[in-house]
Amino acid sequence: MLNYFETKIEFLKGVGPQKAALLKKELNIHTFEDLLAHYPFRHEDRTRFYKIGEVNDTLPYVQIKGVIKSIETVGEGRRQRLVATLQDETGWLDLVWFQGIRWVKPKLKVGVSYIVFGKPARFGKNYNISHPEFEVLTLANEAKGGLEPVYSTTETLKNKFLDSRGIAKLQRVLLPQAFDKIPETLPNYILERYKFIPRNVAIANVHFPKDTKILAQAVSRLKFEELFYVQLKMLNLKQHHHAKFKGQVFAHIPTVTEFYNNHLPFDLTNAQKRVIREIYKDMKTGHQMNRLLQGDVGSGKTIVAFICMLMVLDNEAQACMMAPTEILADQHYQGLKEYADKLGIRIAKLTGSTRKKERAVIHEGLLNGEIKIIVGTHALIEDTVDFQNLGLCVIDEQHRFGVAQRAKLWNKRSEAYPHILVMTATPIPRTLAMTLYGDLDVSVIDELPKGRKPIQTVHYFDSNRLRVWGFIKSQVKLGRQVYIVYPLIEESEKMDYKNLMDGYESVCRAFPDYQISIVHGKMKAKDKDFEMQRFIKKETQIMVATTVIEVGVNVPNASVMIIENAEKFGLAQLHQLRGRVGRGADQSYCLLMTSFKLSKEGKIRIDTMVRTNNGFELADVDLKLRGPGDLSGTQQSGVLDLKFADLGKDGKIIQEARNLAKRILEADATLDKPENQILKNRLRKLEKTQTNWSRIS
Ligand code: ADP
Ligand code: MG
Repeated sequence: MLNYFETKIEFLKGVGPQKAALLKKELNIHTFEDLLAHYPFRHEDRTRFYKIGEVNDTLPYVQIKGVIKSIETVGEGRRQRLVATLQDETGWLDLVWFQGIRWVKPKLKVGVSYIVFGKPARFGKNYNISHPEFEVLTLANEAKGGLEPVYSTTETLKNKFLDSRGIAKLQRVLLPQAFDKIPETLPNYILERYKFIPRNVAIANVHFPKDTKILAQAVSRLKFEELFYVQLKMLNLKQHHHAKFKGQVFAHIPTVTEFYNNHLPFDLTNAQKRVIREIYKDMKTGHQMNRLLQGDVGSGKTIVAFICMLMVLDNEAQACMMAPTEILADQHYQGLKEYADKLGIRIAKLTGSTRKKERAVIHEGLLNGEIKIIVGTHALIEDTVDFQNLGLCVIDEQHRFGVAQRAKLWNKRSEAYPHILVMTATPIPRTLAMTLYGDLDVSVIDELPKGRKPIQTVHYFDSNRLRVWGFIKSQVKLGRQVYIVYPLIEESEKMDYKNLMDGYESVCRAFPDYQISIVHGKMKAKDKDFEMQRFIKKETQIMVATTVIEVGVNVPNASVMIIENAEKFGLAQLHQLRGRVGRGADQSYCLLMTSFKLSKEGKIRIDTMVRTNNGFELADVDLKLRGPGDLSGTQQSGVLDLKFADLGKDGKIIQEARNLAKRILEADATLDKPENQILKNRLRKLEKTQTNWSRIS
C-alpha cells in the first residue's frame, strides 16, 4: 500500500501536471511529504502595523495602513515606473513598481485605504517601498494579521504563480487533510521529558504559526528531533561497525617500550601520552579502530602516529601513512624515517612520482612483509599495492580522502580490517565533530610541547608597510627567514596573479640585498620544488608565495609569516598559514596586513587571530561566522542537510541529543523495546532516504 505521504504532488488540488513538473524540477518536491517538508525560511510579522512616521530603512519589513493619495506613471520605455503615494496621519511614502505596471495599476485607487507590506528603502529624506504587497483594507484583514510564512522559490516558479504566496496556498490545502496522518516520530517518554508538542502540531505551526510562542515551540521540537536522529544514526552506525568489523589484536608491544626507554627524542606531553593510551586500548579490543585524532599544528601528531605504528609492527603487521600531497608525504617520510632508523625498521615511500622499477621493489617488500612502514599519497590506494598484513592505516588531513577510499583500504585484507587513525590539524569544533564524525571515536591533543613560545600575531594597516619592512630586516639580520603570502581567490585569478607579481616586485625593490624565492600555483611542480628547496636550504631569505605553502611545509628557521590582504582569508586558512612559523625559532611572528577598509566580519577574524593561538577557539568563532558549510575546506554542505539546526549555535542541544541517544542505545542496543519501536522505524526510514555518506570528501 502506498503511504499517503508518498502521494505524487500532482494529486494535490491546485497542482496540475505542469506545476507538478516544475515543483519537481525546481524545488525537488515530488510528493506530499516533500511539500510539507518545504518549510518556510522565515515568517513575516503581520501582527503589527507601523505608522509611516516610524518607518526607517533598518526595518526588514513593515506593514502599514494608509490611503493612496496619488498615482502616477513616471519615465519612458524601459525606465518607466509606477509611483503611488501612501499617506497616514504621521506622514507619507512612495510605493514604486518597475515591472507589471499594467497589472498593478488598475488595482490601485486614489482615496482608498490599503494594507501595504514590504521592505522600506531610503531615498533622500523620504522612504519608499518597491514592489510591495498590497490589499484593500477591510475589517477582516485588519484584524487577521499573523505570522505569514515565506518560502524559498525560484523565478521560473514565480512566473507560474508559485511564488511564496502560491506555495503557502498549496500548504493550506495540504495541511488540513494531512494533519491527522502526520506520524509521531518521537516516543512518548521523550515528548514528556522535554515537554515537546506533538509532531503534527509542530509541523502545522512551522508553516502557519498562530503566534511567535508556538512557532518557537514548534521549531525547538523539530530542531531537537533533527539533531537527535543524526546522533542516533551515528551512534547506531558506530555500534554496528564495532560489532561487525573485527580488528587484529595488538597487545604485546616490546618495541614501544624500547623506543620509550632509549630513543624518545623529548618528553611526550600529557596530551600525547593520553592519546597513545586511548589508541593502545583500541588496539587490544579485537574491534577495528576508527579514530579521529585532532591536534593543532605543531602539537606533535607525527610521533604519536609513529608509536602507534610500533604497536602494530610488534605483532607481525604493517602500517601505512597517507598524506594529501607529495610534499607532505615526503616530510612525513623524513620524519618517520629518523625514528625508524634508530630501531632498524624498514620504511619506504610511494607516491605518484615513484619510478616503475622502485615501485616493483616496494610492492615486493610490502607483500613479503619486509617493508614495515609505507608512507605515500593517493598512489597507495590507486596502485595495486598489496600488504602481507596491513594492521594500521594512518590518514593525515583526512578531508582530502573520501570515505569511499577509506573503505577501499579496509578491503585490502578481508578477515580483519586495519585499524584506521585519521589525523587532522584543522581543529573541528566539538559540536561539528560530534555531528559530522559522530561515528568515529575522537582523540584530541590539546596541549603544545613545553617551551614553545606562542607566536605573536600583530595587525598592521598597509600604510605601516615601512615599519613592517624594517621588522623583516631585523629578523633576517638574526638569521631568520620570512614568508610573505598573497591570497588566491579563484574568481579573479588574473588579478591575484598580478597582485602577487606586483608584491614580488616591490619586495625585490625593498630588499635588493636579499635572495627572494617565489612560489605560486601556476608554476610547474618541478620549479616549485626547486624554489622550495632553495628556501629550505636557506639560500633565500624571503619566500613570496600564494597559499600553496598552506599545508604541511616545515621550515623551522622561518620565523615570520606576513599575510597580505589578510581580510580576504578565512580563519581556518589564516590559522593554517600562521602554523608555518613557530616551528623552531625562539620567537615567531605573524603579521596580518590589511587596508583600512575592513568589513565587520573581517575585523572579527583579524581580532580573533591577534587574540588567540588556540585552534579550537578559532574554529568556534569560524563556525559562528560562517556556518559549517564553509568550514575548513571540507565539502560539508548538503551532507547533513539540516533544516532547523545551526551547528554554530546549537551546541548545547547537540550535546543533549547525543547524550539521550547514547543512553537509549546503551539500554536497548537493537531498539527492540516496545517504547523504542518508533525510533527504530524512523531510523530505518531515514537511512533509506537520507544522506549519502559517500559524498563526504
Ligand atoms: P603536527 O601535529 O603539526 O604534525 P609534528 O608532529 O610535526 O606536529 O611536531 C611538530 C614539532 O614538534 C616536531 O619538530 C616534533 O619533533 C616536535 N615535538 C613533538 N612532540 C614534542 C614534545 N612532546 N616535546 C617537544 N617537541 C615535540
Ligand atoms: Mg603534521
